[in-house]
Amino acid sequence: MDPQRSPLLEVKGNIELKRPLIKAPSQLPLSGSRLKRRPDQMEDGLEPEKKRTRGLGATTKITTSHPRVPSLTTVPQTQGQTTAQKVSKKTGPRCSTAIATGLKNQKPVPAVPVQKSGRGKKPSKRPAWDLKGQLCDLNAELKRCRERTQTLDQENQQLQDQLRDAQQQVKALGTERTTLEGHLAKVQAQAEQGQQELKNLRACVLELEERLSTQEGLVQELQKKQVELQEERRGLMSQLEEKERRLQTSEAALSSSQAEVASLRQETVAQAALLTEREERLHGLEMERRRLHNQLQELKGNIRVFCRVRPVLPGEPTPPPGLLLFPSGPGGPSDPPTRLSLSRSDERRGTLSGAPAPPTRHDFSFDRVFPPGSGQDEVFEEIAMLVQSALDGYPVCIFAYGQTGSGKTFTMEGGPGGDPQLEGLIPRALRHLFSVAQELSGQGWTYSFVASYVEIYNETVRDLLATGTRKGQGGECEIRRAGPGSEELTVTNARYVPVSCEKEVDALLHLARQNRAVARTAQNERSSRSHSVFQLQISGEHSSRGLQCGAPLSLVDLAGSERLDPGLALGPGERERLRETQAINSSLSTLGLVIMALSNKESHVPYRNSKLTYLLQNSLGGSAKMLMFVNISPLEENVSESLNSLRFASKVNQCVIGTAQANRK
Ligand code: ADP
Ligand code: MG
Repeated sequence: MDPQRSPLLEVKGNIELKRPLIKAPSQLPLSGSRLKRRPDQMEDGLEPEKKRTRGLGATTKITTSHPRVPSLTTVPQTQGQTTAQKVSKKTGPRCSTAIATGLKNQKPVPAVPVQKSGRGKKPSKRPAWDLKGQLCDLNAELKRCRERTQTLDQENQQLQDQLRDAQQQVKALGTERTTLEGHLAKVQAQAEQGQQELKNLRACVLELEERLSTQEGLVQELQKKQVELQEERRGLMSQLEEKERRLQTSEAALSSSQAEVASLRQETVAQAALLTEREERLHGLEMERRRLHNQLQELKGNIRVFCRVRPVLPGEPTPPPGLLLFPSGPGGPSDPPTRLSLSRSDERRGTLSGAPAPPTRHDFSFDRVFPPGSGQDEVFEEIAMLVQSALDGYPVCIFAYGQTGSGKTFTMEGGPGGDPQLEGLIPRALRHLFSVAQELSGQGWTYSFVASYVEIYNETVRDLLATGTRKGQGGECEIRRAGPGSEELTVTNARYVPVSCEKEVDALLHLARQNRAVARTAQNERSSRSHSVFQLQISGEHSSRGLQCGAPLSLVDLAGSERLDPGLALGPGERERLRETQAINSSLSTLGLVIMALSNKESHVPYRNSKLTYLLQNSLGGSAKMLMFVNISPLEENVSESLNSLRFASKVNQCVIGTAQANRK
């Protein structure tokens, strides 16, 4: 109970001033809507009360449906209106509206309520004459009015107090409103910020969701990979197990192998010792072989002569039967032939009866005779051993002697067309040397070969291996000693080509043929008028034993041995031809003389009398082995030349050169 509230207001006014006005600040969030209550709503809420209060007449009790809305004490209309207007001015439109609404619905209150005096009964109307009584009444009335006025003043005073309170409340409410508005603005700002944050968070959430789905995909992928890896791991584990098993097996095998290796090593050591011993023996045997081989060659003769008769070529006249005969040796037809008979009918020797004289038979015997059907391989077989002597360190020289067209070049170089069956002595000899050198390399011998090929025409030397600008030109070549005091001879300006295989030799022979062909166009058939000297310098070394051996192998295709017909008229061409022939004859007879001198062990050997013998002196000396092929044409027209050749060869065959010495260092 408010102590300031007057009992009069409680009793007489029936005006309820309830707490809400005081409590309002704490309940303000709700007040807005309630303060805004429309007059009609208020009217409705008031309706039953109004009816009741009307019935009372003197006072009006105003109640609102809501207890928190402040009720206003019903005041006399003028006073109430003034107060409402004052309040309206102070509290603003909303509050003033409420108050105004409350006042508007108020019925006018009579200025003086009917007095229900304690005396009970209302004084009856005084008669007009009762002025005193009337005055008394009027005084009483005045007194009541005065009391009433006093009461109203008090009420007014209270109302003014209430108004002040209300104004204060309004003011407080205004302040609170401002605070709340500030608060609201803050809250709104916070809300906006919150919304922005929410928006950001949503974006963030979206992004995170996206990342999550990516991560989930990744996780799935990884899981798949993990499964695969696990599978692979299982596979590898099984492989590992398998490998481990195999390793164990291998280790077992290894240890047994190691034991085996150890025993093999011991065996190897023993075998190495055996091998050394065997090598020693082999070397001894090799040296013995060389000695015996040489002895055999010496027994066969250091100068040997083979006679080869070429077949009749297509288009050539068939020779008369019995022109050339090949009598079998003492061992019968199975023996290789060594004899040859040439029958020559001398037309100048006529008989008395005029009948042609019987042909004269000339018998010759050589180390070997090759009849026309003999193949290149058969011929080479006979000289293979001799060629091998060159590897053993003995100089070897092989000549092909005979008239032009008798088969010298065929024997030395081979037939046309590159047919391997027709290969001559030069390619075959080199092939043989290369293969034997290869075999000897197993015994510690290392061989090297250097080839040269020159032509001696009219006592001038020409390089057949010349290339480039010198090709076919026959630049000046001289035979010189390799160095002062040296036995070795070299041809200046000539190419010395190292060879190690057949192909290289073939290339050299091809080059020599080309060089000859160029010369042939310039000078008619010069090749048959010149000596071709193929030389191979062989050098062998047994480094571990410090042995060396070296010797030249010379393969010489001599110039045609035919003589010039003395009955021929000597024109300018023939004079040149005569000069050529004289040069050839001179060199060939010098060769014969050199062989004779060597055979007779003469103190002077006329090597210098011809370029050929000078060049070949190292291949013809005491330590050399010489083989001469005498090539014979089977034709009747060549009988005379054949006879000459055979006689020359026979003379050579009778020569024996002193025991050959191997060129060992
Ligand atoms: P040369 O060199 O002595 O002048 P060639 O070697 O040029 O004689 O031979 C003359 C011709 O005879 C060549 O066509 C050659 O092919 C051929 N000829 C030589 N000897 C034989 C032979 N043993 N077998 C077959 N044809 C040969
Ligand atoms: Mg020839």
